[in-house]
Amino acid sequence: MFSPLWWRRRRAEPIDDQVWLRVCRRLSWRHGAAPDAGDRARAERFLASHDIHAAQDMRLDDARRALIATLCTRPLRHLDERLLGRWRDLIVYPGQFRVRRTHADDDGLVREWDEELAGEAWEDGPIVLSWIDVLADLADPQPGFDVVVHEIAHKLDLSDGAMNGTPALPDAAHRRRWIDAFQAAFDDLNARLDRGESPPIDDYAAEAEGEFFAVVSEYHFTAPDQLVSVYPDVAAALTAFYGPARATVKR
Ligand SMILES: [Zn+2]
Repeated sequence: MFSPLWWRRRRAEPIDDQVWLRVCRRLSWRHGAAPDAGDRARAERFLASHDIHAAQDMRLDDARRALIATLCTRPLRHLDERLLGRWRDLIVYPGQFRVRRTHADDDGLVREWDEELAGEAWEDGPIVLSWIDVLADLADPQPGFDVVVHEIAHKLDLSDGAMNGTPALPDAAHRRRWIDAFQAAFDDLNARLDRGESPPIDDYAAEAEGEFFAVVSEYHFTAPDQLVSVYPDVAAALTAFYGPARATVKR
């Protein structure tokens, strides 16, 4: 699945010591512990292998690039970085960005509307982020909200070739257990919503299996205990996948 030639080309792009200090100061209070040398090395490899583009009047300096790279690679602490695939481009808008949606119904009637997004991951293209929303997740962490984790989860999801809520896993038994746990939780969430109950997690997770994986990944990294209490099998599968996470939302 992975090309060794492509992987060998990934070299690190060093982060300046002063810049790294600023990243650490920004993140240490939030995560309970400062990013470590492994986090820095992962961020440096990310910077070397990805292009971060500024959209509209967004200004990107070294500190912002390093912060984005550190946040993007935080979910990869216990993962093979090659799971991110060949994706290369990340586009950063200063605030939420507008996308045009179209939908054709069964009668061929095409509906068009605009949506304001904080983040988006294309199946065969860039991740797009709103800088203001990235900062909001840092300044005021909320359970189940981390736009960077959400979009990175979509890229990890694609590691088995499809955005369907299941990333590439070590073997068929892992895959079976994952699908059983996630399908049961996804069905439960949809059943609760159909009955008019208030959902135990962000109801955006009910949109599709891929969104469910992305949203529960956000809980894993912001409020893991909340996920354990609602969907313990999903929480266990995510802990096995991402490794244990430290809650960023303090109660
Ligand atoms: Zn999504």
